[in-house]
Amino acid sequence: MSEPQRYDVCIVGAGLVGLAVGTALVESHPGISLLVLEKEARVAAHQSSHNSGVVHSGLYYRPGSLKARLCAEGRDAVYQWCADAGIGFRRSGKLVVATRRSELPALDELERRGRANGLTGLIRLDGAGIADFEPAATGLAALHVPEAGVADYPALAAHLAARLESTGARVATSRAVTVITHEVAGVAVVAGGERFGARVLVNCAGLHSDRVAAMAGIDTPIRIVPFRGEYYRLAEPAAGLVRALVYPVPDPRFPFLGVHFTRRIDGTVEVGPNAVLALGREHYRGTPRVWSEVRAVVTGRGFRRLALRHWRSGLQELITSRSPRRYARLAQRLVPAITAADLLPGGSGVRAQAVGPDGALIDDFVIEAAGSTIHVLNAPSPGATASPAIGRHVAALVSPWLGRQGR
Ligand SMILES: Cc1cc2nc3c(=O)[nH]c(=O)nc-3n(C[C@H](O)[C@H](O)[C@H](O)COP(=O)(O)OP(=O)(O)OC[C@H]3O[C@@H](n4cnc5c(N)ncnc54)[C@H](O)[C@@H]3O)c2cc1C
Repeated sequence: MSEPQRYDVCIVGAGLVGLAVGTALVESHPGISLLVLEKEARVAAHQSSHNSGVVHSGLYYRPGSLKARLCAEGRDAVYQWCADAGIGFRRSGKLVVATRRSELPALDELERRGRANGLTGLIRLDGAGIADFEPAATGLAALHVPEAGVADYPALAAHLAARLESTGARVATSRAVTVITHEVAGVAVVAGGERFGARVLVNCAGLHSDRVAAMAGIDTPIRIVPFRGEYYRLAEPAAGLVRALVYPVPDPRFPFLGVHFTRRIDGTVEVGPNAVLALGREHYRGTPRVWSEVRAVVTGRGFRRLALRHWRSGLQELITSRSPRRYARLAQRLVPAITAADLLPGGSGVRAQAVGPDGALIDDFVIEAAGSTIHVLNAPSPGATASPAIGRHVAALVSPWLGRQGR
């Protein structure tokens, strides 16, 4: 192998988080030498291009949590970045609708959290007020959140990668990182048969972030469990029943938001996603083909305890996933005129959800620094919205290393 090419910072993973970390670093340290290594042939091939495309407002998250802070900060930056670069976005607003009396306390809590998280435009609606925003939706009460919207995240990722390259950074695709070793001057990395050296390594590997952390010798109890989200698309004329974003009140036991309606940036209306345990980290549909992946998921630390805790709801999700009729019933709770015949097959995405050793789903973002390596170990939704702020947060952790070593 040839002599390693040396950089100040090496980022593993060119999803929105890795690209936003790179963007924050070149802004805070002009002239920095930066390498982004991506295993796929293109950037943003996984979560960053397989999501709902929603710019989240910050409504749901526990005040004071990383998610609450970074979502609010990231939301404004996503809108600004899209506006500056001519990328599609729409601040369309969203409704969170309580359809059962039992959901009203959780709706109250969302309102309290939203106000604590600085959402100034929140409006509480009674059942009759829902029609002012979404004439086809019904419920007992709702919150309208004007700060929420949609954006073209794949286009944003492509733009960030191109902008990084224009500043002299290298974004190397088809370079899967397979070895990380520690050296006096930082880290040595092998990716796609090439060797690289860097003072600092930032792990933004999404669905593989725990594996990349293990490669770097980090002993974290956190494991990634993949949760697939499956979508349907509304056929015409049913798509006309939804103006913007219509969500249920989420089940507070899970970090997922429940099957909802999203009028995307291209005007199509999606229904979903559900949350089904995936039998592989990149298992988007059909029967899993890589059996070592299946074994790795089901024998993984945390998985069995997770399955024991949540087997009942997991089973229900699986049954719904197989039945468009059941899926339609979930959708009808919010928009009663929808029928199973209106649901066309849509895409899917796989969430990188971190699970603790006790099987508990970890709600907040987790970012850990260990020596000259920094690891983004849990960045599920609203990770796309929060990515600019996660980028700045991580860049601040990298900064002392660059300063300390003579930059
Ligand atoms: C179904 C679904 C719906 C969602 N909806 C929303 C939403 O509406 N709004 C929102 O804000 N968020 C949403 N999210 C969450 C959001 O998409 C993610 O939080 C965000 O994309 C995470 O970005 P990332 O860069 O961490 O991960 P990714 O985009 O997955 O990028 C990680 C990258 O690392 C690469 N990689 C992995 N291992 C290696 C290796 N060994 N060497 C080199 N490269 C490697 C991968 O190929 C990948 O490109 C959703 C997610 C899903 C799955």
